Amino acid sequence: MKARDRLRIAMQKSGRLTEPALELLNRCGLSFRQSRDKLFCFGEGEPVDLLLVRDDDIPGLIAQGVCDLGIVGRNVLNEFQLTAGREIAPLAELRPLGFGRCRLSIAVPQELDYHGPQQLEGQRIATSYPGLLGEWLRTHGVAAGVVTLTGSVEIAPKLGTADAICDLVQSGGTLVANQLREAEVLLESEAVLTGPLTLPVDERGDMLELLLKRLDGVIQVRESRLLLLQTSRHTLEAVTRLLPGGPQPTLLQVAGQPDQLMLQALCAGEVSWRQLEEIKKAGAREMFVLPVEKMLA
Ligand code: ATP
Ligand code: ZN
Repeated sequence: MKARDRLRIAMQKSGRLTEPALELLNRCGLSFRQSRDKLFCFGEGEPVDLLLVRDDDIPGLIAQGVCDLGIVGRNVLNEFQLTAGREIAPLAELRPLGFGRCRLSIAVPQELDYHGPQQLEGQRIATSYPGLLGEWLRTHGVAAGVVTLTGSVEIAPKLGTADAICDLVQSGGTLVANQLREAEVLLESEAVLTGPLTLPVDERGDMLELLLKRLDGVIQVRESRLLLLQTSRHTLEAVTRLLPGGPQPTLLQVAGQPDQLMLQALCAGEVSWRQLEEIKKAGAREMFVLPVEKMLA
């Protein structure tokens, strides 16, 4: 295959991960010109292009070297790692991306009084994740039948084709609607950035390194808030003790008021009204909570 000098990222063409993945890439300073067939999107500015495909095809496209990176659910990535042949180079989970959260769970009929994996012995479990389910059954020493289905897994018990299911769960609404309840969680999943274990040593590698740095900045600031407040020296200790987690705050002297300090703290997560009120009670004034737009360490 001809060496490429542009990075190619595979992502879901249309589905739950499409919008948040595009937004994340935009926040990393990447923008794309949508091509007419909408399979390939040429990157403007940076040498990074997109391939829009079914999420299930993403790990294979990277393993074959058609794409350098992919944005895909951990469930799809791990299933691929377990079911792809040994001749396929393993992929790495480069970064968790914090969206598309769900879990892969075993669910049983609501009326079943479930109290442990051994109860699944000899049962038929319907799933689109035979690799992950098979591995879980092996580690728990359970011999169960795995019925592989590509869709509508949740209705299998009602149709009588399975006794239980192993499927993705987010709110649990689909399970309730099908008179099922969650019995075991096999995997906590979210969208991840995946790529080969060894990164290319060429222009693509350089671009990838830059992209990972930007991504780290974006992921970090997404949750970060900058807290600004004023306090006098004698309440400083009490105020500092109440600050939400994060690196050490910065202190500045307020001009003309030797006793007054301005404190600046980066907080890893929301700062609630309740927290602000507590900090105020400890002696803080003039408090501001600001979103962080960009961060480059
Ligand atoms: P495609 O046409 O690309 O194959 P799909 O139907 O497999 O689409 P989606 O339903 O869009 O895919 O789900 C994509 C990913 O979103 C899943 O693999 C999973 O990681 C994540 N996800 C988050 N919540 C859920 C959920 N409640 N049900 C299914 N997937 C979920
Ligand atoms: Zn899919």
